[in-house]
Amino acid sequence: MKRLQLLPIGPVDALLLEWLGQSLYDKFRMQAEILSPALDPSFALHAERQQYHSSEILVSMQRYISGDTWRLLGITQLDLYIPILTFVFGEAQLGGTSAVVSYHRLQQEFYGLPQDKDLLANRLLIESVHELGHTLRLTHCHDFQCAMAPSHAVEWIDIKDSGFCEDCLARALEAV
Ligand SMILES: [Zn+2]
Ligand SMILES: [Zn+2]
Repeated sequence: MKRLQLLPIGPVDALLLEWLGQSLYDKFRMQAEILSPALDPSFALHAERQQYHSSEILVSMQRYISGDTWRLLGITQLDLYIPILTFVFGEAQLGGTSAVVSYHRLQQEFYGLPQDKDLLANRLLIESVHELGHTLRLTHCHDFQCAMAPSHAVEWIDIKDSGFCEDCLARALEAV
């Protein structure tokens, strides 16, 4: 049976991961499975930036793909980047099998604010739906409330919904 496989990249909050798996099941109707052990991402560390190259992580995730994989979603608390950008919340293979999402900059503490676990969980869900949407061939959406709207700051995430707009939903269903 095909599953949505969640792969921790480095140490990840176990309760948050459980919650995410359940919430993504509610969205995609694909049973979630948490893979272990976590992938050790030290190979993707850029020493000067103290950030992890998301594209290199995506490449090394490929060995986890099996006949049971519907989609493989890497989850990390580490800060991700691609060379042309200061940081990324996540990266996905457009129309592919894998995506990775970071909650490093989804945490209020990152901005010097008090911890807010519910807000963090909701942001992580939205960004996970967003990256999985890319694996379903969805590109960025002009509807600012759609999960496929681009976000370059958490403020943009907070006005998004964790679901797709009607147009994106229709296109996602075609891709499944
Ligand atoms: Zn995107
Ligand atoms: Zn949309």
